[in-house]
Amino acid sequence: MTEAPLLLRRGDRLVLATHNDGKLREFKALLQPFGLEIVSAGELGLAEPDETGTTFAENARIKAHAAAKAADCIALADDSGLVVEAIGGRPGVYTANWAQSGNMRDYRVGMRRVEDSLEAAGALSPKDRRGSFNATLCLAHPDGRDALFVGVVEGVMVWPPRGDKGFGFDPMFMPDGFDITFGEMSSDEKHSWAPGKVGLSHRARAFGLFVDSALGGDVEH
Ligand code: IMP
Repeated sequence: MTEAPLLLRRGDRLVLATHNDGKLREFKALLQPFGLEIVSAGELGLAEPDETGTTFAENARIKAHAAAKAADCIALADDSGLVVEAIGGRPGVYTANWAQSGNMRDYRVGMRRVEDSLEAAGALSPKDRRGSFNATLCLAHPDGRDALFVGVVEGVMVWPPRGDKGFGFDPMFMPDGFDITFGEMSSDEKHSWAPGKVGLSHRARAFGLFVDSALGGDVEH
């Protein structure tokens, strides 16, 4: 039996299965034109599930299904991170952990760890400092159906970090074709997503696929 695709219409409620304020801000901005009723897992007081997967897809599914079930509502989760070639693809799914400092998350500490690993690997010139931001979105229904959408943006890891916009590891990542980092870009520039256009950020690229599939590109201008 073919499963019915997951579709959202104007006015539908969608739970954003994240407790990360940076991701939440970006998703709310991206979803704004679609007329959905957006509520976050944090606002609903949902517990954060353990991210026990070893791939972005596994963790995105864990988060989306946990929120969909707990809220009895369609949920969208994002698992994302940095994949840096010269250090064997790390920090990968453990990107958030690399910024953990005691019981706080400090992205300056996380960026320093990436830089120290790159220097230890002798990766000093831009051609040796290739990295990508990856995002896998999972849209999950309380009945167990789901769909995955993957976005990747390639670039170079820079040091020292530049810019105070965005969040997380943005100040260290310069996407190909630009001479500024994500941390120096406005939110519109970082996403540069619009109907019919491919966005710039990993999240915006995955989001474009989600829109085509689940929202039928239905934007109000
Ligand atoms: P997780 O998906 O909750 O496991 O966390 C992914 C981590 O990757 C975040 O905490 C950020 O540190 C980092 N990250 C993901 N997307 C971005 C981004 O767009 N900019 C900067 N850092 C990001």
